[in-house]
Amino acid sequence: MPHSLRSVVPRARRARAAVLASALSGCLVAASAPAPAVPLGVGDRLYPTLGNPGYDVRSYDLSFTYPGGNSEPLTAVTTIRARTTERLERVNLDFAHGTVQSVAVNGAPADFAIAGEDLVVTPAAPIPRRSTLRITVRHTSDPAPPDGRDGGWVRTDDGLAMANQADAAHLVFPCNDHPSDKAMFTIRVTTPEGFTAVANGLPAGRARAGRTTTWTYRTAHPMATELAQVSIGRTTVLHRAGPHGLALRDVVPAPDRAVLEPWLEKTPAQIAWLEKKLGPYPFETYGMLIATAQTGFELETQTLSLFEKALFTEPAYPSWYVESVMVHELSHQWLGDSVTPRTWSDLWLNEGHATWYEALYAEETAGRSLQTRMKAAYSLSDQWRADGGPPAAPRAPKPGLKIGIFRPSVYDGAALVLYALRQQIGRPAFERLERLWASRYRDRTVTTADFERLASAVAGRDLSGFLRAWLHGEKTPPMPGHPDWKSSPVHAAGAARQVG
Ligand SMILES: [Zn+2]
Repeated sequence: MPHSLRSVVPRARRARAAVLASALSGCLVAASAPAPAVPLGVGDRLYPTLGNPGYDVRSYDLSFTYPGGNSEPLTAVTTIRARTTERLERVNLDFAHGTVQSVAVNGAPADFAIAGEDLVVTPAAPIPRRSTLRITVRHTSDPAPPDGRDGGWVRTDDGLAMANQADAAHLVFPCNDHPSDKAMFTIRVTTPEGFTAVANGLPAGRARAGRTTTWTYRTAHPMATELAQVSIGRTTVLHRAGPHGLALRDVVPAPDRAVLEPWLEKTPAQIAWLEKKLGPYPFETYGMLIATAQTGFELETQTLSLFEKALFTEPAYPSWYVESVMVHELSHQWLGDSVTPRTWSDLWLNEGHATWYEALYAEETAGRSLQTRMKAAYSLSDQWRADGGPPAAPRAPKPGLKIGIFRPSVYDGAALVLYALRQQIGRPAFERLERLWASRYRDRTVTTADFERLASAVAGRDLSGFLRAWLHGEKTPPMPGHPDWKSSPVHAAGAARQVG
């Protein structure tokens, strides 16, 4: 997601009540009387009840049936294949915004209950450690946003799109809703006549039955739940070739095809530019999903980034800016989607890098000085840290603060850390590090410590102290090579000024 220059803020995200999730997981054993179903989590510092312990999801098979409008829920079947990592008397899934009709575990009916934002499943018999687990949930998926909270389905003028980051995939389908558990996805969408459905990955079949069509898509690489995308609309799918024959497909509202084409045709050159910086494009396809909706943000959903149409049709945005936002989302395919942060505190690894390539592209193709942007960021950095926490230790999202965890500190504030690192180790070592980071951790999840270790290895010296100060310090350290740069004093009112 880009931190926008536009006068919009990212969509609302609401923190939920923190439960002593990981502490409770030990209570599942023992006890003769069944303990009450409780929401669990994997211990994410920022979202304590996201994800669930005890299993590792291998694949999701999602089936949605779209009724042809957004006023009633979709009917859905979600099948999760997983491997248990401990003996489970109950299996918690994250799911919060639909009605569950039935649950089956390994083919047999199972009891279920709702606890907080978890769907707690009790199979007929406990599932042994290190065994396969197949859970099928028949449920609805509601396109209307829950009270006071956006995310999940995005209602467009002609259908639906999806925006699950950071904690909203489980508003759409039952899942282990945490980026530490990436999995393969097969997505099927049944639509009435006149609608087109597109999802992450490549097409894997299209079947007509009467007046409906079922569209199937499959990912060739593992994906985090927050990066799932399903577009349903009266759309046109435009195909073109990217570098070395990479298949590209864009999804646009049918009437807007001509006006959007000048932007869409820029993607192949942008991919080629990023491949020079980061190595081969990491996935089987790419494209832009342009939605007629008021999102106020763009989102790097895997292989198919979501853009708000107004970004391309509002004449006030200069073309260098629009292109830099396109490159921001595109660079996330390497950094964020293929190389995925393991916890939400590692979000700076996504947004710092995407902001870096957004700014570098603007410098190299439009003469917008990166150093000028970084100097401006330096002057604000202490304030950003006071407001949102240091880049690698962001403050938890607060109810009512629409910006959630997506604050300047993890965007330009974190790009500034990469600039400091480049100043410290020199351009050749920095560029080697970036390519190695994208290739070594392809399809995996990473932590801030992984980045610190790789940076030290590439530079041939211990950078842990340098990076700790830049990533975790309350104050911005001096900028190597620019002793004159100053960060403006923090205003006391700053902390309360949070929302843009
Ligand atoms: Zn971003």
